[in-house]
Amino acid sequence: MIELHGIGKVYNASDGDHRALEDINLTIEDGDIFGIIGESGAGKSTLVRLLNLLERPTEGSVVIDGVDVTSFQGRELRELRAGIGMIFQNFNLFQQQTVLQNVTFPLEVRGEQKAKREERARELLGLVGLSDKADRYPSELSGGQQQRVAIARALANEPSYMLCDEATSALDSRTTVQVLDLLSRINKELGVTMVIITHSLAVARRACNRIAVIDKGHVVEEGFTEEVFANPQSQVARELLGWGFETAEGPESEGSVASDDAPQGKSVSRGEADGEGGDR
Ligand code: ADP
Repeated sequence: MIELHGIGKVYNASDGDHRALEDINLTIEDGDIFGIIGESGAGKSTLVRLLNLLERPTEGSVVIDGVDVTSFQGRELRELRAGIGMIFQNFNLFQQQTVLQNVTFPLEVRGEQKAKREERARELLGLVGLSDKADRYPSELSGGQQQRVAIARALANEPSYMLCDEATSALDSRTTVQVLDLLSRINKELGVTMVIITHSLAVARRACNRIAVIDKGHVVEEGFTEEVFANPQSQVARELLGWGFETAEGPESEGSVASDDAPQGKSVSRGEADGEGGDR
């Protein structure tokens, strides 16, 4: 379980202080696929980076499995991070290394023997459906395949948690669905608790059992996904959902993650990538 208590974050930038988050209180339960949604600049990436202390909070505490980790340093911090996998929008793979080498990397860092780490990496490549791509290089793979390599790498240390920062935003709709379904399977079969950061309502709706809506650094709404979608309480959530233009029928469009055909592996703009139409 991950608990955020009274979290605030102020960035000290060259042009002065910028408050990115204020008084965030959230609990992510074991087994959740927890979505954090909001518009660009709302504070989503800052929030997710606080969970593995890539950013330190200015106020409040991060409690993981009952332990206050906010001031972890050195070995404690490395061990904490090993238990939290992370994947990104741009995959962050080592381009000069093969798929197998990318996946074995975290195990090499941990000091595993070569034969053992290769065995584990091949097992993980099987799990993500890429057994036949072990000797390829990332540039020879589609975007969806690259993200699956990143997922395999994130799972190498058998993490309890996985953080996904706009992990499907560079993928076309069909590939997005495949990656989300893979994340759901990993959640169910391996028991990995997921935190999914997304600007995409369609992604949140397909993948997440609970969501928090964040706006200007505040959580404005939180609850079970279907309940928030069916009956958004905050103005921001209503606007995000397209209820800002309310009609007798409700929102103009709830969006779909399976309605366009953007090219694979190519970065496309967020709106193009998820085929959401009228929900932004
Ligand atoms: P989101 O992921 O929702 O787009 P971010 O967490 O990236 O939002 O950013 C939240 C706010 O914090 C924005 O106003 C952004 O400009 C600011 N911010 C993010 N990172 C930094 C930084 N390193 N220095 C200064 N301001 C930052």
